Amino acid sequence: SDALLRWYDRNARALPWRNPPGAPLPEDAAWPYRVWLSEVMLQQTTVAAVKPYFEAFTRRWPNVEALAAAGEEEVMAAWAGLGYYSRARNLVKCAHEVAERGGFPESEAELRELPGLGAYTAAAVAAIAFGRRAVVVDANVERVVARLCAIAEPLPGARRAIREKAEAITPDARAGDFAQAMMDLGSQVCTTKAPRCLLCPVSDHCEGHARGLAESLPVKPAKKTKPERRGTAFWIERKIAAGREVWLVKRPGTGMLGGMRALPDDGWSARADGSGKASLAGEWE
Ligand code: SF4
Repeated sequence: SDALLRWYDRNARALPWRNPPGAPLPEDAAWPYRVWLSEVMLQQTTVAAVKPYFEAFTRRWPNVEALAAAGEEEVMAAWAGLGYYSRARNLVKCAHEVAERGGFPESEAELRELPGLGAYTAAAVAAIAFGRRAVVVDANVERVVARLCAIAEPLPGARRAIREKAEAITPDARAGDFAQAMMDLGSQVCTTKAPRCLLCPVSDHCEGHARGLAESLPVKPAKKTKPERRGTAFWIERKIAAGREVWLVKRPGTGMLGGMRALPDDGWSARADGSGKASLAGEWE
């Protein structure tokens, strides 16, 4: 962890939601809100895609109370394009709960009870926002640890061993910096393809590199074939004095694009020959 933190001190990415390495935790009351918001946005999404959304959200809703006061529709519309829309619905629920209790809890266990905070996000917020020691394991960290410790068992079975090793290398001090250093190492150096072992600050400790296994780890489970579905979307216009209106539906709360406004469709039930159920799914708007 020392070698990694020294590297992070010189190479940390400057990100709009990030505290500089080694700096004390900001006293700004909105700090945990910014950490939480960025972590929720970053799930399954790239840093480049998140940046403009993070900036737009924090400009419009600078703290958790402001977000809690916003309408769900408004937040969903601002989220459009980021994907995985259940995150946006949980964001609103979580903002209500946090505003009601007067702020974010600091412990990982209490954070875990908030809507939408899984093990990873709760640990990341505890470590980064509050400096609590927490074992933060996302896909990047999973890859780094599997390589560092040459864990050759395939995923998802390997997760237990990866977690134990991650626990063993997490230091007590600089918890937030360590978590972010691991994330940066995973995204900048220990990349999925062609890891840059020659530039790696922990290569002397890396079993996977020493055994020439780095790129093959972690071992992925066999891929499931993706089902193919067909559907029809309907573009329905009506003329109004000011021009034209297009009819949209609010999609059902769960499933694909849950809760989003969309063109009405047939529920993705069409057959390859174009026949099939024709009833339109969603609540009309
Ligand atoms: Fe990853 Fe290579 Fe560093 Fe090991 S030495 S952690 S495989 S980049």
